[in-house]
Amino acid sequence: MIKIPLQRLRHDSDLEFHFEGSGEKFGFNKVDFPVPDADIQFRLIEVDHGYFLTGQLTGLAQPECHRCLTQFDYDLNVQMDTLIVLDDSEEFTPEDDIVDVPGDTQEIDLTDFIQDAIVLALPVKILCKEDCQGLCAQCGTNLNESSCDCEKENIDPRWEKLKELNFEE
Ligand SMILES: [Zn+2]
Ligand SMILES: [Zn+2]
Repeated sequence: MIKIPLQRLRHDSDLEFHFEGSGEKFGFNKVDFPVPDADIQFRLIEVDHGYFLTGQLTGLAQPECHRCLTQFDYDLNVQMDTLIVLDDSEEFTPEDDIVDVPGDTQEIDLTDFIQDAIVLALPVKILCKEDCQGLCAQCGTNLNESSCDCEKENIDPRWEKLKELNFEE
């Protein structure tokens, strides 16, 4: 868990926090790949009704390539900014990028916030390299490492349309 105390700020208007460790140590449970190394710096600045939180995460993630399913090293460099609003009113409607906490909150857990930022920083379709050859659809050989003897699929374009039809419906 990555927690920062909000209480200390009442005596100081600008504080810095530094965390170093791995996703395992921090208890990351929302990212479905290892984060063996993360260096996180946060700066908390007091503003009206709350705090502005600005952070930077550098480190290493090991996601799986969508095409060849091989785990590879991906450098993380993630900027994280959010507004923490101390709020006791019922009517307040926080927006997406605002963290809304009760006014007497002493400590805020940033673990989920950081995990979301990591997931968003990665491309939706993540590839080990631009020209990854993927796996052979028939025998599963990793075509980046070797080739196989499977017949290359050669479909008459006139039949392509038929493949798109879903007969199960
Ligand atoms: Zn790949
Ligand atoms: Zn093959």
